[in-house]
Amino acid sequence: MKIYHPQTPLEAVMLRKENAASAVYLAGGTDDLRLGGSAEGKDLIDLNHLGMDKLEMNGDKLIIGARCTLQDIAESDLVPEFIREAARFCTSLARRNAATVGGNLGLRRDDSYLAAALTAADAVLVCMTPHGENEKKIGEYLQSTCKALIMSIVIDKNRTGWVKRFGNTAASHAAVIAAESCGIFALSVHGSGLAYGDSPEITETLTYTDDITGSAVYKKYLAKTAFTLRR
Ligand SMILES: Cc1cc2nc3c(=O)[nH]c(=O)nc-3n(C[C@H](O)[C@H](O)[C@H](O)COP(=O)(O)OP(=O)(O)OC[C@H]3O[C@@H](n4cnc5c(N)ncnc54)[C@H](O)[C@@H]3O)c2cc1C
Repeated sequence: MKIYHPQTPLEAVMLRKENAASAVYLAGGTDDLRLGGSAEGKDLIDLNHLGMDKLEMNGDKLIIGARCTLQDIAESDLVPEFIREAARFCTSLARRNAATVGGNLGLRRDDSYLAAALTAADAVLVCMTPHGENEKKIGEYLQSTCKALIMSIVIDKNRTGWVKRFGNTAASHAAVIAAESCGIFALSVHGSGLAYGDSPEITETLTYTDDITGSAVYKKYLAKTAFTLRR
């Protein structure tokens, strides 16, 4: 296994492009460095010299560096409460201390701790691409296979909303995570992916499946109930 140590975000994204089939980014390593993780058998592009680890205000915007950890988010008074709650869905302190926001979004898991809450928050991702920096709506990024490097996540600092997680236990994979903020609804369903939109009817757009987290009928019931109760 080879580990690249790029010195700039552009260098990192170019390495990813040149080694598309054989290398992945390394952030906190909680997924990359475990057996069966997304980096198994691959080379690593280390992001840990690139900064991107600050929480900063810019007017009414909060800028979350992609290398901020879930614990940074959970602890910060700058972060809207429902996003902090989503970070706390990761119940292991050791993993919260290592796992980064960029890594969590980059994995595009259908039980992602943060995806539903940040999508409902209408977050914008500032990304580095081989053609330079650009901005992407988080929902579009999560539903694509885009390999750009997430540098930061931008949200309205006064954003309010709620997020609700359903799973067999706090530590097992979530069956459903539902969130709403300012009229944007977002839903992560295990086995089905992410849906979002301006109405609770997004529950009808997913194809639900039976799996270890619950039956298809149960997961759809949970999703609909969360949006009916709005909490
Ligand atoms: C036991 C266990 C249980 C877990 N359960 C859950 C769970 O229920 N829900 C959940 O969401 N996660 C879960 N995870 C996965 C993981 O811990 C988190 O998703 C974490 O946030 C990943 O962050 P990281 O910084 O460690 O990523 P890394 O492991 O360093 O990287 C993971 C992937 O993200 C990509 N990536 C990293 N940084 C960026 C970036 N800046 N831009 C673009 N792509 C990037 C990389 O290409 C890489 O392949 C679990 C992991 C373990 C070990």
